[in-house]
Amino acid sequence: MFYPIRALHKLLILITLSSVSFGVAAAQSQPTEVEFQQWLQTFKLKAIAAGVSPKTVNHAFAHIHLNRKVLQLDRYQPEFSQTFWGYLNRAVTPWRILQGRHLYQQHRQLLDQVARQYGVPGPFLVAFWGLETNYGRYTGNINTIEALATLSFDFRRSQFFQTELIEALKILDRGDIPFEEMKGSWAGAVGQSQFMPSNVLRYAVDGDGDGKIDLWHSLADVFYSMGNFLNQLGWHKGENWGREVKLPANFDLSLADGKSQKPLSEWARMGLRLADGRPLPQTEPQAALLLPSDYRGPFFLVYPNFYVIKRWNNSNNYALAVGYLADRIVGGPPLSVQRPKDDKALNKQQMQAIQSHLLQLGYPVGQADGIAGNKTRSAIRQYQQQHHLPADGQPTLRLLKHLQQTKDKTHDSP
Ligand code: CA
Repeated sequence: MFYPIRALHKLLILITLSSVSFGVAAAQSQPTEVEFQQWLQTFKLKAIAAGVSPKTVNHAFAHIHLNRKVLQLDRYQPEFSQTFWGYLNRAVTPWRILQGRHLYQQHRQLLDQVARQYGVPGPFLVAFWGLETNYGRYTGNINTIEALATLSFDFRRSQFFQTELIEALKILDRGDIPFEEMKGSWAGAVGQSQFMPSNVLRYAVDGDGDGKIDLWHSLADVFYSMGNFLNQLGWHKGENWGREVKLPANFDLSLADGKSQKPLSEWARMGLRLADGRPLPQTEPQAALLLPSDYRGPFFLVYPNFYVIKRWNNSNNYALAVGYLADRIVGGPPLSVQRPKDDKALNKQQMQAIQSHLLQLGYPVGQADGIAGNKTRSAIRQYQQQHHLPADGQPTLRLLKHLQQTKDKTHDSP
């Protein structure tokens, strides 16, 4: 279909008006397929105005529906928060380590080429690949245009997803992948590296030189694209991501904030050693100390590349899992501590109970919202210091019990 400019202009005004009313309708009640199709008609013009060919837009939008499963997944809020151990044991399984070693050997030549070009060693690329799609085994089977259109129509993060939807349409326009094969996660991430469409356009590379960028089927395209992406995110060539370390007795745990950078010589002077007891290497860059679980460990010194990994996915657990899996792929040892038997995720009520006990005892947690943010962690640390507990700032069931006992004592005293 071809839209004359004047009609386009009129319809663009209509888009602005209608997106307001759809947003409100969506907020108040379940959105309907009819509303979705009406919204699509107006969004078509926006996409064409942004430079996508009418042919691509018409073909793609003729075949999609409001995807309720996507809405459901977007609204899903887990009952339990996840512990570091819970996350790590699911992300870095024995199978994934073995498979990673095998695939690293199998694709060694290609991975070495990518490492030479972008400075990112092969084991890291394999680790990202393993975490994102289980080495390409699960790239997601939701039509990407349908997922992004559903999330764009929804009021929650409409603007972000509209941008991604237009980028996804531009990828179709380029002819690298047909509409029917463009599938991925419910949130619009695509291919074996799970790039969002805007990152595909910005960072993906034709690694095998066939003139197309195919992140679904071409491993060369996948590895070159990941290498380029990490390089652009600021990967420090020749540097590691971090290391597991041991702390001396009575170490001030508040220094394990994952942020404050010190030279390794300074950490060594404070008594830190590698997990196996050897001294810290003196050749490595500045590092921060990170405690992802509780005072029983593990502890990590993390280097600038740790934060580059977090630019891919802003989660300490994710970045630790990538670094640890990359180490294991090249024969690195398992962590020096094991998951404690009492390591259990807290549910929201338990988290809120910790916060409201702290509030009632006069510690500044902000709001009892059930989310363990920085304020809550620093209030926990204050409480632990005053009660001569290891000040790891971690919300745990043991802490909840301790708080309850303290509160009971406060009430009992005259
Ligand atoms: Ca290619």
